[in-house]
Amino acid sequence: MPRAILHVDMDAFFAAVEQLDNPSYRGKPVIVGSDPKGGAGRGVVATCSYEARKYGIHSALPISQAYKRCPHGIYVRGRHSRYSELSGKMTSILGEFTPLVQKISIDEAFLDVTASMHLFGGALEVAKLLKLRIHQELHLTASVGVAPNKFLAKIASDLKKPDGLVVVKEGKEKEFLKDLHISRLWGVGKKTEEALLNRGIEKVGQIAERSQVELNRDFGKHGNALWRLSQGLDDRPVEANEGRKSISQETTFDEDIADPEKVEKVLFRLAESLSRTMRQEKVKGRTITLKIRFEDFTTHTRSRTFADFIDSTQIIKGVAISLFRRFGELEQKVRLVGIGVSQLSCSVGEQLGLFDQEAPLNTKLSNLLDSLRDKFGEGAVGRAAMLEKRTTKRSE
Ligand SMILES: [Mg+2]
Repeated sequence: MPRAILHVDMDAFFAAVEQLDNPSYRGKPVIVGSDPKGGAGRGVVATCSYEARKYGIHSALPISQAYKRCPHGIYVRGRHSRYSELSGKMTSILGEFTPLVQKISIDEAFLDVTASMHLFGGALEVAKLLKLRIHQELHLTASVGVAPNKFLAKIASDLKKPDGLVVVKEGKEKEFLKDLHISRLWGVGKKTEEALLNRGIEKVGQIAERSQVELNRDFGKHGNALWRLSQGLDDRPVEANEGRKSISQETTFDEDIADPEKVEKVLFRLAESLSRTMRQEKVKGRTITLKIRFEDFTTHTRSRTFADFIDSTQIIKGVAISLFRRFGELEQKVRLVGIGVSQLSCSVGEQLGLFDQEAPLNTKLSNLLDSLRDKFGEGAVGRAAMLEKRTTKRSE
């Protein structure tokens, strides 16, 4: 069954919010970003109004350049809490059309309305309705792309900005793509673009005409992806991200560390701090992941998943240490370590099961330590193992 995916993208979001809240900014070039300081400012443009775009200003342009192009523009630093507030309202509106909303940035989201569109009269109707709701309730405009997949929906939302609505019908994917410039394809960066242009390929349709074999030969592992995108194929699901998916903490050492005992002490502290945050936020998770980055910047992760939801310091620490010990003798110095917990649940109950015997005691101990830290500060209490020298040989 074909899917109905929407990509919703607010138009010039930060600048539009500034114009909404400051009527005197309306109809004028508004540039949200760093301080231009008379044209000598560092940093870049975050967003600018459509009036500013007429001067050749765009996101990511150095702010000093923007100032040269439009010295009389209105330069503002941005009010992120206000943007987040409106972003939250946007998310609530989108959530009324489907539970499958995947927010990909503060002002953009994918929606899978395959199952719910019939309630509203089809995907196009959903798009029209949600644009209307955003306009009426937030007094802002959004552009929407409607397509059989995420890749096409995202391109479509960008084609008729601002206040755009572009539909890509099933079966018309290749036709929709054929005259678009190759830089529109995901994953086509400067290098790939150059390589394509060198081969006389400028439009997406020209990629679609090549065989997969030819593309694989010329572009290695990207060849297959290029071919698929040129055909308008993309089967990635819309992954609803209600709430957070994981919680993690990491430490980059001031100097790279060769001594595994030192690394373990840091892991212990991270486990203490992470599990404490989890208990405060009332989240538990089933997967514990250790992240380690070596001095040559190679990064590894190792995970362990439990049947039960966990927030115990003791368990998180134990798992992190045992995952770390699996690396064996350290051949390189360690630059960074982190612990993450994912597959979260906001369940309130106690973790039981695998750790039946020790979990209640651990929970009590964790809670006691938390309350001591609340009273006396972070450094007040540590468990003995943090201070002890490890005497046993590392083994799994
Ligand atoms: Mg936007």
